[in-house]
Amino acid sequence: MHLLEGLDPDQQAAVLAPRGPVCVLAGAGTGKTRTITRRIAHLVNEEHVRGSQVLAVTFTARAAGEMRGRLRSLGLAGSGNTVQAMTFHASAMRQLRYFWPQAIGSSRWELLDNKFPVVSRAARRSGLDTSTETLRDLSSEIEWAKASLIGVDDYVEEVTRRRRETPFPAEKVAAVYGAYEAAKISDDGDQLLDFDDLLLVTTGILAGHPQLAEEFRDRYRCFVVDEYQDVTPAQQSLLDAWLGNRDDLTVVGDANQTIYTFTGASPRYLLDFSRRFPEAAMVRLERDYRSTPEVVGLANRAIGAARGRVAGTRLKLIGQRPPGPEPVFAEYDDEPAEATAVTARIKRLIAQGIPPAEIAILYRVNAQAQAHEDALTAAGIPYQVRGGEAFFQRAEIRQAMRSIAQAAARTDLPTDADLPTLLKAILGPLGLSDEEPAGTQARQRWESLRALVTLSEDLLVDSPDIGLGELSAELAARSQARHPPTVQGVTLSSLHAAKGLEWDAVFLVGVVDGSLPINQAINGSDEDVEEERRLFYVGITRAREHLHLSWALARAEGGRRGRRRSRFLVDLVPDDSPASRIAEPKKIRKRPQCRVCGKQLLGKTASLLGRCESCPSNLDEDLFIALKEWRSEQAKEQKVPAFVVFSDNTLIAIAE
Ligand code: ATP
Ligand code: MG
Repeated sequence: MHLLEGLDPDQQAAVLAPRGPVCVLAGAGTGKTRTITRRIAHLVNEEHVRGSQVLAVTFTARAAGEMRGRLRSLGLAGSGNTVQAMTFHASAMRQLRYFWPQAIGSSRWELLDNKFPVVSRAARRSGLDTSTETLRDLSSEIEWAKASLIGVDDYVEEVTRRRRETPFPAEKVAAVYGAYEAAKISDDGDQLLDFDDLLLVTTGILAGHPQLAEEFRDRYRCFVVDEYQDVTPAQQSLLDAWLGNRDDLTVVGDANQTIYTFTGASPRYLLDFSRRFPEAAMVRLERDYRSTPEVVGLANRAIGAARGRVAGTRLKLIGQRPPGPEPVFAEYDDEPAEATAVTARIKRLIAQGIPPAEIAILYRVNAQAQAHEDALTAAGIPYQVRGGEAFFQRAEIRQAMRSIAQAAARTDLPTDADLPTLLKAILGPLGLSDEEPAGTQARQRWESLRALVTLSEDLLVDSPDIGLGELSAELAARSQARHPPTVQGVTLSSLHAAKGLEWDAVFLVGVVDGSLPINQAINGSDEDVEEERRLFYVGITRAREHLHLSWALARAEGGRRGRRRSRFLVDLVPDDSPASRIAEPKKIRKRPQCRVCGKQLLGKTASLLGRCESCPSNLDEDLFIALKEWRSEQAKEQKVPAFVVFSDNTLIAIAE
């Protein structure tokens, strides 16, 4: 295939721009990722850069995998001419493994993939009583500080200056942060490094050892960053350390898809790129190749309402594809009803020939997946849950990772077996049978383990000769990036994890105030709500053709219908929207009340009576109500009862 085939003139300009700084600033679905993979191919084929001299980074393992897939199809990944496409963390980890012995010497480091116990001890030492909740908050706060390059000594001053809300008084957080950092270093100098340390320590080594930095810059010549709108200061400084005084850097991003500011990410590096590199080639793309004009129109309207500091960079997307179905908006009584209806629609799409792997259900938080997992399971539709910490936090995966780490020291394994065989030997006893087992729990466990093997195989493509020890460390690094690999099924994913991806049909579920925007954002600042709006935009723009937005008024069946549809829908679904836009008419499930005491009525007899069976009765009235109810029910089925016999408060016979 010719490199410029299937690219429009603006995309071609980005591909052909001379070596040096290039910035592609463009909306969702405009072909940014396609463009940078072609640019890499161009550098390798036309600019005498070796594939192995290109380092392409992005933020999630899934996105990196996607990029590797596209590079592979261009003949640039896999064996031989291998372009490194990985996450910032995986890349830093690999470099650290190489540079540490030369830079630090004999002391050792180990990855701290679960910081909770260490934070917990640090909190106790600082006199804080912690629950699981507060531990999570403290850990996130420490992560934010490190990603933002704020050290222990500067923490209090910085959060005060930024008027940041902290989970505890800033001094307390600083104390925990300090104790946590100290606890990671043992007396003999060995260190535990958390994921943020991977970036910070690698940056420090490159900055402090010029000859190692030279060696590195000899190895890597060209850098490419996808999704650059979500880079953190720590990632940016690593990128700067990689570059030194070179400027062979291509970045692509969309400020309207900035969805990770809560981790310290900031679109300012993207927006300031041309100021930092005045000679940069700047390319803007606005043709949307992913979605139908109907989806594009909705996306434009959704983000058109954006306010705040990022909104000024808005680019209007222009749909390029032929028209498709109108987006569907649907309201349900409760989440199980929503899940059942979504599954029913998915079934219909599959029957129409859309493969399950081309369908996704997207939600705000992982806990929302459960109802949909149940509904899909009941309907026998295969699915894969992706995103969120869930995968690497699953008990079987944690157990598997431990087993892999321990196995490196075992002698009872077939010794010169290849890695996939070894993995099978290790994971077999944990539940990875050859056949898919029956039963939801066993199947989930089996699917997780199989996903781990697929992920390992993916790693092997890039690094064919790694051993068990390295595999286990690499998996631990991936666990931070949080994504299991693809299997063929409907994708269930959080919105955050869906960034950069696309499906033929997307079901954006739980579009209620409190979920999207999430309550914490509603109770937070306007900027927090704006970030949720961008997340909503990311969700809409994942759909190629079918887009279904739904919400439920109550969480549980029969629960209080106290929720309302998301504020982001206000201008998209006007209150007087024609019924045709509402897919399923709202089902009003009647919960009749006792006309005597007012309590909710349970049971058919009570419903027919219109009162509790224990409440005082008026036989005539009861009979009248019962008859009316019964008639209306029968009328629905076009049957009319001939008579109803009613005696002593009880319906005793009904005959046609
Ligand atoms: P996002 O912001 O969501 O990451 P993106 O800008 O990276 O989106 P891509 O994923 O590269 O967009 O492209 C979106 C879709 O459009 C892909 O299916 C891609 O193959 C297709 N595409 C991109 N450019 C063209 C083109 N010139 N002609 C036809 N299809 C294209
Ligand atoms: Mg992309």
